[in-house]
Amino acid sequence: MKIQEYQAKQILSKYDIPIPRGQVALNASFVRQIAEDLGEKVVVKAQVLIGGRGKAGGIRLANDPDEAEEIATEMMGMEINGFPIHKVLVEEAVDIKQELYLGIATDRLNASPVIIASSYGGIDIEDAAEEAPEKISRILIDPLVGLCDFQIRGLAVSIDLPRKHWKKFAQIANALWQIYKTNDASLVEINPLVISEENGLIALDGKMTIDDNALFRHPELADLRDLDMENPYEIEAQKYGIAYIHMTGNIGCLVNGAGLAMATMDILKLKGGEPANFLDIGGGAGAEKVSSAFRILLSDTQVKAVLVNIFGGITRCDEIARGITAALAEQKRPQIPLVIRLVGTNANEGYKILEKQNLPVAHSLLEAAEKTIALAGVKK
Ligand code: GDP
Ligand code: MN
Repeated sequence: MKIQEYQAKQILSKYDIPIPRGQVALNASFVRQIAEDLGEKVVVKAQVLIGGRGKAGGIRLANDPDEAEEIATEMMGMEINGFPIHKVLVEEAVDIKQELYLGIATDRLNASPVIIASSYGGIDIEDAAEEAPEKISRILIDPLVGLCDFQIRGLAVSIDLPRKHWKKFAQIANALWQIYKTNDASLVEINPLVISEENGLIALDGKMTIDDNALFRHPELADLRDLDMENPYEIEAQKYGIAYIHMTGNIGCLVNGAGLAMATMDILKLKGGEPANFLDIGGGAGAEKVSSAFRILLSDTQVKAVLVNIFGGITRCDEIARGITAALAEQKRPQIPLVIRLVGTNANEGYKILEKQNLPVAHSLLEAAEKTIALAGVKK
């Protein structure tokens, strides 16, 4: 889960990392009021969960409250990469002497947290990595030892940080490590970390990603979720403990198990079909879960046909069949064609239930894929 800049900055600030004074606003007249209260030049920043807002017109300087209100009015109707702007952060404008990068991320390749610093801040770190790889320093952090002072000094040297900022830099790096650790984050990033004329080091931007699998340990963070920014079907699926992945085709896939999902989509693609999504109901799913999964699948208007592919192990195929029957009985949308393939525990009982309902079945995955593709109207 990603959180918005203003939320990330509240967390940075709680750990004594300096941030510009400011406030978040939902409408342009409040933006004017914040600008008046700040009483100086301000920056109006679109709160959307993507990078590169600067380039897209989502970060703008305003000289006075009138201008701030004007900019906010324009922004609130805008979209950046398809994400509508509903909130803006209004902050005192900072005089930038230099822009740095500082972040802690999970390095999957090395299975370790890594602290990254660069004197090449402000732009996307991916771009910086391409343009000036020698300007980026990465140091792995041993989670049992934690971030050490010598590592921080090494970073400070590598980015040519003037000596007078070292103490503050160390404090910020240590705070980032604490934030990363205590919140189960997979990324905490300050880009740019700015050297300013009047304040020394200050965090001008903040990004934070929290490991979804750890959210149950952080109810206060889970509340920060910005549902405007997420796929509504994914949110609905999460409520029922179903993994849902959205794609661009027109065939809905209901499966149990990630590996089976991959195999199902491979076969669909092989036969010329395009998956619209897949829902993984996991192992041991009962009728109720299947019924919720179906409701989600069928509310996706992209879906023109559904392929159900179930491997019965702990999951019992007759339970699945009952779930499908129940879901179809309650759905209001005009019936969408579906093809069901069951194999494993109680498959025969399952097929009997389905056949009683006149539901189309298939006895192999290839057959199921071909039938579904024909029903969805995809050309080979
Ligand atoms: P991002 O483009 O989404 O990463 O948004 P940022 O918050 O990082 O802002 C992008 C760029 O806008 C920064 O790198 C700065 O160059 C500029 N910027 C942001 N806030 C200020 C500010 O207060 N004063 C000045 N002069 N520039 C700013
Ligand atoms: Mn940034």
